[in-house]
Amino acid sequence: MTSKVKGSIRTSKLVNEIQPSGIRKFFDLASSMDNIISLGVGEPDFVTPWATREACISSLERGYTAYTANAGLLELRVEICEYMKKQFQLSYDPKNEIIVTVGASEALDIALRAIVDPGDEVIVVEPTFVSYAPLVTLAGGKSVSVGTTVETNFKLTPDQLQKAITPRTKAIMLSFPNNPTGATMTKEELEAIAQIVEEHNLIVLSDEIYAELSYDSKHASIANIEGMRERTIIISGFSKAFAMTGWRLGFVTGPSDIISAMLKIHQYTLMCAPTMAQYAAVEALQTGMEDVNKMVQSYKQRRNYFVKSFEEIGLPCHVPGGAFYAFPSIKDTGLTSEQFAEQLLISERVAVVPGHVFGSGGEGHIRCSYATSLDNLKEAVTRIGRFLEKL
Ligand code: PLP
Repeated sequence: MTSKVKGSIRTSKLVNEIQPSGIRKFFDLASSMDNIISLGVGEPDFVTPWATREACISSLERGYTAYTANAGLLELRVEICEYMKKQFQLSYDPKNEIIVTVGASEALDIALRAIVDPGDEVIVVEPTFVSYAPLVTLAGGKSVSVGTTVETNFKLTPDQLQKAITPRTKAIMLSFPNNPTGATMTKEELEAIAQIVEEHNLIVLSDEIYAELSYDSKHASIANIEGMRERTIIISGFSKAFAMTGWRLGFVTGPSDIISAMLKIHQYTLMCAPTMAQYAAVEALQTGMEDVNKMVQSYKQRRNYFVKSFEEIGLPCHVPGGAFYAFPSIKDTGLTSEQFAEQLLISERVAVVPGHVFGSGGEGHIRCSYATSLDNLKEAVTRIGRFLEKL
């Protein structure tokens, strides 16, 4: 995913090595046009539930405007640990096994910087969220891409993992439910992966930000497999399931030695996550699960409609078990994913993201977010169908 681009001689070699996100390019193009249906955005169309917003307002009214502890409000850390226990049967100590971060984005960054030495290899299972490979590069490591395919429903196979491991491999980045494919992995499938992880003494960065958005079976965390908790860093946050992207609030749980290393970076770079957002998150965890469940039901309904509709208009689409993205194949059109996305945008004003921006295995697909109303999805399907007929 990181090909060398020429940068300024004044900027660092590492920064010159990474490229701007391919998602942004399409956003920028789409925002200059009107009558657009955007399936490009990776965020909920729901507004943060009122009780959560009200808790933020109330924290401001009470004058809670100072820094919190570096690791986050203890009250929030306790709530998150209870949530992890209840939802995923994982126990963490609120004192030294969790940090409240500025989004899952920060958690990914400080996790990599805490564990990677120059030249260490980190396996990135692709297609995946666009930040992983660049963050490995910025941490001084080398990202090793493993491309999953539609033939295995975009799941990582033990064979693929085995082949990617070298003596320099330090860690593996997993993300299920996955952005952009919506793929999920069962406990049994993760067990086969965990066995190899253990054999090679690897660390797992498991980005589980879409865990709540699992539609067909309960989310399985790799940290729940015997021997894995002590070598797994779980990254999660409030952006997706709690509809809180703009609040910039995430969290990371893991073994205390790694968490305390991460805390050093967090304390020197961010100090703490925004205080008022943390008070809001306490409320979200205490009273917001019903709202989360309603949103999940709505995404599930949209997914079912969307996947069926893609098949009807001739775009094969595997059934995404989680997150809020469909990843249909456009291979039969003969266009590259970039050409497809660009021509669709210009001729029918539907914004999607070309699959190749998500790395190996992404080409030949487009990412379509269904975090938008059913009416929008229906109109988008009509337009995409018309586009296909014209090809
Ligand atoms: N991880 C994945 C897999 C994502 O898809 C995203 C956002 O799209 C993030 C992390 C970033 O989340 P946050 O808003 O918490 O920084």
